[in-house]
Amino acid sequence: MRLRTFTCALSAVLLHAATAFATPPPLPQLEAYTVDARWLQPIQPLRISDHTWQIGTEELTALLVETQDGVVLLDGGMPQMADHLLANLQRRGFAPKDLRLMLSSHAHADHAGPFAALKRRTGARLVASAESAVLLARGGSDDLHFGDDITFPPVVTDRVVMDGEVVTQGGVAFTAHFMPGHTPGSIAWTWNDTRDGKPVRMAYVDSLSAPGYRLLANPRYPNIINDYRRSFATVRALPCDVLLTPHPGSSGWEYAARDTAGAKMMSCKAYADEAEREFNKKLAEERRKTR
Ligand SMILES: [Zn+2]
Repeated sequence: MRLRTFTCALSAVLLHAATAFATPPPLPQLEAYTVDARWLQPIQPLRISDHTWQIGTEELTALLVETQDGVVLLDGGMPQMADHLLANLQRRGFAPKDLRLMLSSHAHADHAGPFAALKRRTGARLVASAESAVLLARGGSDDLHFGDDITFPPVVTDRVVMDGEVVTQGGVAFTAHFMPGHTPGSIAWTWNDTRDGKPVRMAYVDSLSAPGYRLLANPRYPNIINDYRRSFATVRALPCDVLLTPHPGSSGWEYAARDTAGAKMMSCKAYADEAEREFNKKLAEERRKTR
C-alpha cells in the first residue's frame, strides 16, 4: 500500500517534470483586419469639385479640401494608407505641414485608421464628436458591435464638436451634423465649394448601414433604432448638391472610372431612402428570427 502511494507520487512528479520541459506550441498569430483589395488600391488625386479632391483608394474615401490657409482631410481610410495620403498631398503641391485639420466621420478602422500616424507626421488637429473621441482614443477596441475585431492605432481628438457646430479653416466652413446609428458618434460634414465656377453644396455623409448589428433590445445601444430613424431624416434634409460617402459605392461613385463629370450623383434623399429600405428589411428579418 505504502509502495503504491510512493510510485503514484513518483510518476506524478515525473509527469510534471516532463510537461514543464516539453516545448509548447507557438502562440496563435494575431487575426488581421483583412478587406477587399479594392479598398486598398491607391488612386491618383481625383478632382470632385474645384477645391475638393478624392485622394484615398478606389473604394475608400479620403477627401482633401484645399483652402486659402492649408488643407483639410475628411477621413483617411485604413491604417496602412498614411504614406499614400501624404504622397497624394505632395502630388497636389502640399507639404505634410500644410495639413491643418482632419475631420472624422466615424471611428472605425477603415476610415480613422491613419489619423494617429498623420497627426505625428503633420501636426494636423483631429476633429470629432465626443462619442467618436472616446472610441478613437481606445483605437476602436470594445466596439459596440465588433468588440476588438477591427482595431487601429489609438489617437487623441484635439477638438470635440457639438451637433451643428462649424469648424473653419482658411475661409472654408465645415458644419457637423450628428447622425448616430452606424456608430453613436457618426457625423455628416457639409461645406461650400464650386464646380466649374458654379457654387455647390458639398455633403460628406457618413455610413447608414448596420453590418451584422443587433438592432432589437441591444443592451449596449438601447436606442439604436430611434437613432437610425432620426438620422435618416437628418440626411434627407442636408444641404446636398454633391454627395460623397465613406464607401463610395453607397452613393453611386466609382472613383476607378475617373469620370467625375459624368458621375451619376445620388441625392441625400435617395441615399437615406435606400439606406432606410435596407434597414427595414434587416429589422424585419431580426424580428422574424427572434419571434
Ligand atoms: Zn464603419
